[in-house]
Amino acid sequence: MSQLEEILAYNEQFVKDESYRPYEAPNRPIKKMTIVSCMDCRLIELLPKALNLKNGDAIMLKSAGGMVESPYSNTMKSILVSLYELESEAVYIIGHTDCGMHGLTADKMINDIKNRGLDDQKFAEVTVDLKQWLTGFQSVENEVKKSVSIVKNHPLLPEHTPVIGLVMDPKTGELKQV
Ligand SMILES: [Zn+2]
Repeated sequence: MSQLEEILAYNEQFVKDESYRPYEAPNRPIKKMTIVSCMDCRLIELLPKALNLKNGDAIMLKSAGGMVESPYSNTMKSILVSLYELESEAVYIIGHTDCGMHGLTADKMINDIKNRGLDDQKFAEVTVDLKQWLTGFQSVENEVKKSVSIVKNHPLLPEHTPVIGLVMDPKTGELKQV
């Protein structure tokens, strides 16, 4: 059975058994909070559990590193939508130690792309500065601070919105304020 077939078979049973019942929630975040965090697979369940969050409690935005890269990135747009359209009132930026974006250089990633056999010509079709776009960070604390600053200084951020920076241990779930 392929992975998709397995998922669909499981899904059919899930719905039939009404296993969704414990997850029913309103479509506005009950705890009025927006979380930006890393896509790291260890955080799927750990992060909400470690923050005492249940389905429906918060808006969760995920990306590589949990970075808010620029004031006009998709992540920043999502933050603004959560605050203006989805009744969220606070923003938490949560980085984590042992992150895949820590120390990632554009050169390494460009090399990895080339090693997959991608044609050099394909790079000519790229319209951004890859050296900048594909670069990770050297310090998670500094990266969280940078993201907090981008959100705090956004001209469209509602006045008095708390913007909080945290770093999580991906093994224990321990949070440290930045
Ligand atoms: Zn990460």
